[in-house]
Amino acid sequence: MAAKYIFVTGGVVSSLGKGIVAASLARLLQARGFSVAIQKLDPYLNVDPDTLNPYEHGECYVTIDGAVTDLDLGHYERFLGINTTQDNNVTTGRIYQTVINNERKGEYLGKTVQVIPHITDEIKRRIQLLGACRQYDFVITEIGGTVGDIESLPYVESVRQLRYEMGADNVLFIHLTLVPFIQAAGELKSKPTQHSVKQLLETGVQPDVLVLRTEKDLPREFRRKIALFCNVDPDAVVQSLDVPTIYEVPLMMQKERLDEVVLKKFKLANPPEADMEAWKKFVEKSKHPKKIVNVGLVGKYVELPDAYKSILEAFIHAGVYNECKVKIHFFQSEHIDERTVSETLKGMQGIMVAPGFGERGVEGKITAVHYARKSNIPFFGICLGMQCAVIELARNELGYRDAQSSEINPNTPHKVIDIMESQKHITNLGGTMRLGGYKCTIKEGSLAHKIYGRTEVVERHRHRFELNNEYLPELEKVGLVASGVNEQTRLVEIIEIPAHRFFIASQFHPEFQSTVLKPHPLFMSFVKAASEISTVE
Ligand code: GLN
Repeated sequence: MAAKYIFVTGGVVSSLGKGIVAASLARLLQARGFSVAIQKLDPYLNVDPDTLNPYEHGECYVTIDGAVTDLDLGHYERFLGINTTQDNNVTTGRIYQTVINNERKGEYLGKTVQVIPHITDEIKRRIQLLGACRQYDFVITEIGGTVGDIESLPYVESVRQLRYEMGADNVLFIHLTLVPFIQAAGELKSKPTQHSVKQLLETGVQPDVLVLRTEKDLPREFRRKIALFCNVDPDAVVQSLDVPTIYEVPLMMQKERLDEVVLKKFKLANPPEADMEAWKKFVEKSKHPKKIVNVGLVGKYVELPDAYKSILEAFIHAGVYNECKVKIHFFQSEHIDERTVSETLKGMQGIMVAPGFGERGVEGKITAVHYARKSNIPFFGICLGMQCAVIELARNELGYRDAQSSEINPNTPHKVIDIMESQKHITNLGGTMRLGGYKCTIKEGSLAHKIYGRTEVVERHRHRFELNNEYLPELEKVGLVASGVNEQTRLVEIIEIPAHRFFIASQFHPEFQSTVLKPHPLFMSFVKAASEISTVE
């Protein structure tokens, strides 16, 4: 069948969990046998979030084809087990860039270029791109921001036009709102939802389904009232109760029959119930861990855990499959110093040094690596975390006290981490790092080999600097093994120290490929190694 389009908007406030609801619906439709694409439209002017500070935006997610995207794409992949691409995240910046480039090429034939129709046409083209490949039964598009924002208007106008052009049988609108509970009055309030729907109606969009975020169960009467005032069917008023983990949302949406409501609206036959058994097992297991494992996450953005979203989720997955709960302790790397590190990181059964950019907090990360290495505590470094491990070894085992990454000090005589040759002449910062999936060949008999059980993997990247191969022979002499290498470029992808209980670090970001039903082997084995350490050791 030709793809059906589902648009998800949000109203009243942001952070209602639109991305999670969209991903949950996608998961349920997928589990009923449909193929589903899912996309996020972001109403900001950055072309992508690549140059954004994580404090602004949270993590930058990286797709296999090298797009730097909103972190919601991470949820989509973790929920659906599919790979998203460049086409799954579109920003206003990218839309304008295309339109302005077209204008410069003279493609608008003397016309005045305007938001309507030129910007809206480009938005519509980007939405339909996914459906046009005829691979998908459903395309779910989440519109970022909140209805009523100036920036969202062209998007809402575009989807209004799409419904007009494709017909109501092919396009469906889901609107998420908040139902506040006023403690003093003991009442649930429907007014914000009514106002939000009215606002949507002003732009010509009548929602078909309402998903109401609430901390209390919504009585039938309450739902009926909302249905009446907002012009939707009573069974299309679905509640989204606060739940302890995002992984319960698909099960809750199934209980609320969101997928059934959607299929009915599209007048599609109701195929067999979604089989969510494996998912249910995952959620059940996550609720009954046999033990707790304490992992220290050393990073410089720790005040905003969203900056490490995929890492945190990968730890949840790995914990569940190890039948334990991974308790993450955040450590601001700026506050770690040699004198106090053993006190600061005391009780940690595993230490992860996180990715990052720039000078701030690097010394603390290097100190944390040193502590983990010397105390034989399981260590796992990602990207900058691997680079810090190399610097630490060079300083403390090779005696190069000035060993550094040229990102931090371009003038140091011992650049054990150096800029990649291909990066040297790049001047634009956005979208120019080594991005996306590259092959990594794994050394037989290494820890990495044992972990992956394979000699070739593809992992995702986002970096400009690399281990300087000139130092590799010396580093190998003091116990480092380059167990993963990109054959084409000779770039070192994985390092490990076999003499250590568990010491591994990767230049790539394994966290982007951990999903609910397929946890990442590196996270799994790190958590396992950490779980074998007693806290009092
Ligand atoms: N800043 C380092 C680089 O660009 C590490 C990047 C990262 O940790 N993602 O190579």
